[in-house]
Amino acid sequence: MLVDTHSHLNFAAFNKDREEVIKKCFENNVWMINIGTNYETSKKAVEIAEKYPQGVFAAIGLHPINLDTGLVKMKVDEEEGAHFEKQFDYENYKKLAQSAKVVAIGEIGLDYYWKPKTTKKKELFKQKQKELFLKELELARELNLPVIFHCRMAHEDLLEILNYKLKTINYKLTGVMHGFVGTVEQLKEYLKMGFYIGFNGIIFKKIEGINFKENIRKTPLDKILVETDCPYLAPPGFPEERNNPLGVKFIAEKIAEIKNVDFNGLAEITTENAKRLFKLG
Ligand SMILES: [Zn+2]
Repeated sequence: MLVDTHSHLNFAAFNKDREEVIKKCFENNVWMINIGTNYETSKKAVEIAEKYPQGVFAAIGLHPINLDTGLVKMKVDEEEGAHFEKQFDYENYKKLAQSAKVVAIGEIGLDYYWKPKTTKKKELFKQKQKELFLKELELARELNLPVIFHCRMAHEDLLEILNYKLKTINYKLTGVMHGFVGTVEQLKEYLKMGFYIGFNGIIFKKIEGINFKENIRKTPLDKILVETDCPYLAPPGFPEERNNPLGVKFIAEKIAEIKNVDFNGLAEITTENAKRLFKLG
């Protein structure tokens, strides 16, 4: 059995055959957590999860890229079917979280991929994302839920916030750095804070300055989560261009190879990790 800890069957890309995809996943012993990226996709993730007595869960949150800061022009993602939100509606997200299927707040964090034109706007853009992130961390704290972090080109700022938060609040923040793309030093910092590390199909890509193999080697087995980020990042050899939770098997195989452990053992331990962190019943 495997748990895809980061899928987006709640996205428009699966509107036509979502139920079939889920059925295939169950036939192959794959469970999943569908991750929200704004209010609409969060609500959808909850609705999907509620249709199934087990094996399908939801995370809710506003992804930094879906925050409309008015400072930069961002592309609408057709596969996601995204809406931008001008602010984080704390109470509405909190209401969504009342569903027993909601196992985490996410994906939330910082994303500095898009860059406003002036230095002043750049700073303000980062500031607004940080403010959003802090509000969502507060929601996780209030609801006592783990967090699914998204971070692109922003580890320094994210680590700074987390270091500060962990020192100043009397609260044990748990969570996973999803689709980790960073240095070994940054990896060690997240591990030191007790966070899990999520690996997906990005490990098959070449990214300057990033050593995925080393990151996987340096992450203890009991801290690894496997994920797909589907419909994106179909791993090499996956039979479809659109990824789905079945792709998680390819990730687990690659990690087992790098860690030099057998596939079944890796499947078992990563499934235990997912169940422990997200309290999956
Ligand atoms: Zn995602």
